[in-house]
Amino acid sequence: MNTDGRPRVALRTALVLAGLLCSTLAALAQSPPKIEVVFRYDDYSSLSFTGFETRLIRVFEKTRTPLTIGVIPFPVSKDYHDTSPQSEIPLTEEKAAILREAIEAGSVEPALHGYNHQSRPRPLWGQFSEFKGLDWDEQMRRIRTGREFLKNILNSDIRIFIPPWNVEDQTTHGVLESLGFLGVSSGFDGGGGAVNNKTSLKFLPATSDLARFYESLRSARRASCAMSVIVVILHDYDFAEVDATRAVTNLAAFSEMLTSFAKQSDLRAAGMSEVMSRPEYGAALFAKNKKYMISENFIYPWLADLFNLNTGFYLCEPYLSTVYPKSVKILFVYAVIVLLACIGIGFKGGRLVFAKWPLSVLAVWLMTLAVLAFLVFDIQKDADMSYKGLTGLLMFSGFFLGELFAFASLWLQRQRRFKRGPLEEWMS
Ligand SMILES: [Zn+2]
Repeated sequence: MNTDGRPRVALRTALVLAGLLCSTLAALAQSPPKIEVVFRYDDYSSLSFTGFETRLIRVFEKTRTPLTIGVIPFPVSKDYHDTSPQSEIPLTEEKAAILREAIEAGSVEPALHGYNHQSRPRPLWGQFSEFKGLDWDEQMRRIRTGREFLKNILNSDIRIFIPPWNVEDQTTHGVLESLGFLGVSSGFDGGGGAVNNKTSLKFLPATSDLARFYESLRSARRASCAMSVIVVILHDYDFAEVDATRAVTNLAAFSEMLTSFAKQSDLRAAGMSEVMSRPEYGAALFAKNKKYMISENFIYPWLADLFNLNTGFYLCEPYLSTVYPKSVKILFVYAVIVLLACIGIGFKGGRLVFAKWPLSVLAVWLMTLAVLAFLVFDIQKDADMSYKGLTGLLMFSGFFLGELFAFASLWLQRQRRFKRGPLEEWMS
């Protein structure tokens, strides 16, 4: 009995070790994906590129990747940005049939992308928008008519609304809620996406475009979130098949990218309504994400990288609660440093120049003011102020103040000299 005791112990140890190894491997293999990627393709309509879109949908079908398509039911015929009256062209039967087939195959989920996608007259500092500022009745007419039309022609329910230019308001939310929509997918950089604490709608905004996808992925991997979602917004011009100058990829490379998802254990492609349906994707998380994005938008990417301020994905709680105050502090310190440094440069430079050429004061001031005015105009044109705009404003405001102080100090100096002169003469 004693003779085979040792082999039995060795065998038992080997079995236990093998068991441990197997369970570890199984646990690793089954560890749930940490990042979900949702794809959203905008501007499908009677006017968009049918051949390209058919091929794009096929790529999603082949790679079994869910895709949400924002469909414009009645696009205006000429230019979405042109506010003058234009004819509307309803979704054609040919385009509807392509979608119907893809919806039936299970790869595509349709969403309502506006009514005619025509912008309203844009207010100063405001964004392009079809819906923002429209009254309840008109928003209701557009959303209800658009949805009924799509429902009938696509033979599918429409549960998600994608506002054109990612811009809507709280009236839009009220209308969507009363019509039983699940949620809205807008944006949260700059002015996109309205915050609303009184709605039960779900929010899943676009967080990244195709050009920044890998950057967003790296960021999401660095963040300590149990689950992060990257919502990638796609347009036809992202692809070389449509626009060779603006493209960031082509269909073959894109297809490869989707195929590679299966080999990355922490990544999973998900459908928009699948993610939206979860309880955490309500208005509160959107409001917090938007607040963070606004401050993050003003911070240079290298600075954000340095301080691990991750972006490009939909952040989770409680990660947001730690990273948002951090971003505000960094932004404040950055703004103070830039402003003070530029006041200093303006002061030193001003004293040097004004002392030599007193008449240059007016020219220098006017030039600084002109650059400031240009910056303000440029920012309002895009209705989006980013880190570049903020830095420019801080720099030239600093220069202007510095020059002002330089002029004031030289003037005081001169005054003093002037006063002392006659007095000293009188005393002597
Ligand atoms: Zn659009």
